[in-house]
Amino acid sequence: MAYVVVSGCVDKKYQECVAVCPVEAFREAATYLVIDPDECIDCGACVDECPADAIFDEFDVPEAETEWIERNEKEAPDLPVAEGDSPVLG
Ligand code: SF4
Repeated sequence: MAYVVVSGCVDKKYQECVAVCPVEAFREAATYLVIDPDECIDCGACVDECPADAIFDEFDVPEAETEWIERNEKEAPDLPVAEGDSPVLG
């Protein structure tokens, strides 16, 4: 099980989630973040920190956003660890 970043992060890339993650599970694409499911320990700390309400338990991802479950899993290994100091986009 893991938590998932969905489309609400696109062109926002707020950094609050990165700051509270205890295991550096966030990975950074150009315009959004994803969570590496191999790193996420399911603590849930990031969910309430997201101003865009864009983080969900993978079993609670809204129907229209389920493609993001695979996107987080597939994209995370090729992306750098988010450091939490990138500019917010939106
Ligand atoms: Fe990090 Fe916890 Fe969020 Fe997983 S649920 S990404 S471990 S803060």
